[in-house]
Amino acid sequence: MGRNQMGTNAAIFRLSPDIFLLILNYLALHDKFLLSHTCKVFRHSTYHDWDNEISRLSFSDRVGFWAGLAYTLPDYWACPKCCKLHIINTSDVPATLNRQQLVPCQADLSRGIGTEMYSIPQYHIQFALKLSRLGKHQQYLGALMKPYTDTRISLLNPLTDSYAAEPKIIKKQFILREEWNISNNTSTTLPLFPENGTFHMPVCPHLGLTSSGLASSRMRKKWDAERLQLRHKMTELEELTLFKEMTLIEDGLAFAFRFPGNWIYNSCLRCTTDIGINVSTDKRKVTVRAWHDFGVEGSPIDTNWSVHVADPLQAWATRGSYMDYTHGSVRTLWMEGISDGTK
Ligand SMILES: [Zn+2]
Ligand SMILES: [Zn+2]
Repeated sequence: MGRNQMGTNAAIFRLSPDIFLLILNYLALHDKFLLSHTCKVFRHSTYHDWDNEISRLSFSDRVGFWAGLAYTLPDYWACPKCCKLHIINTSDVPATLNRQQLVPCQADLSRGIGTEMYSIPQYHIQFALKLSRLGKHQQYLGALMKPYTDTRISLLNPLTDSYAAEPKIIKKQFILREEWNISNNTSTTLPLFPENGTFHMPVCPHLGLTSSGLASSRMRKKWDAERLQLRHKMTELEELTLFKEMTLIEDGLAFAFRFPGNWIYNSCLRCTTDIGINVSTDKRKVTVRAWHDFGVEGSPIDTNWSVHVADPLQAWATRGSYMDYTHGSVRTLWMEGISDGTK
């Protein structure tokens, strides 16, 4: 192997070939690939026809391979659509409009978190976690983690609504807090959720207002529940349970209007998202908050990420599986992160 020519006394070179090969067998393919690029000795001992090896992997293992490489390379992200690495583009941040121009393959663009003005694709989350771990590209990290606020005058004057998003890395997990506010700052009595309004609140793929008015949002979900009931041959009770789960936000808002001044908390049953709803004591302002936990570093098809995005090809047929997590824990983690930051 030419160890002496390499002039190294590293312990790994003093291992017997059998032991060394045994260790190599435990390495993931991306680790072998990276090892093969460190020196001649490792290139020879880990030699593979990489193209052939990668093409034989299943789709999820192939995405895992590129995600494994991206984990150590600060300038690249793993694209699940192209199954390769794309180079960092520091002008691509959550508030970027027309991201299509920056990411020609449009990977992940159809599925993301946020509103049309602010959206976080999976590779932003992976960059943020990685750059904070490696201490590289700190300016870009700052841009990715920058809080965002958008205040709009509603088309139904004089209502105003606003959207705010704030990402944080807490205990190596990427947490995003979103907040929607709707208010009527005049003395007129106006419903905050008029049926003819244009307000939408995409809290997560499983919850949220699909229509401006609470009644029409419920109606649409009733249709969705009936369609799913037929497709999956559910009992009436199962359909009712599904409908209750789909309308947690509508029910939460109705409850909050009955108890103004109090925070009403709940959680999505299918993704790690806690929610809080508050109606002001004068009933002129509604605040809805969502805390999403996107988990730790990982592949774009890991559950951490995929439970948070609706697959447009699947949404009509299934709502995804239930997620086992402690409800309220994401909000608690956020609070801990805030108190840590103030210390
Ligand atoms: Zn791509
Ligand atoms: Zn959800």
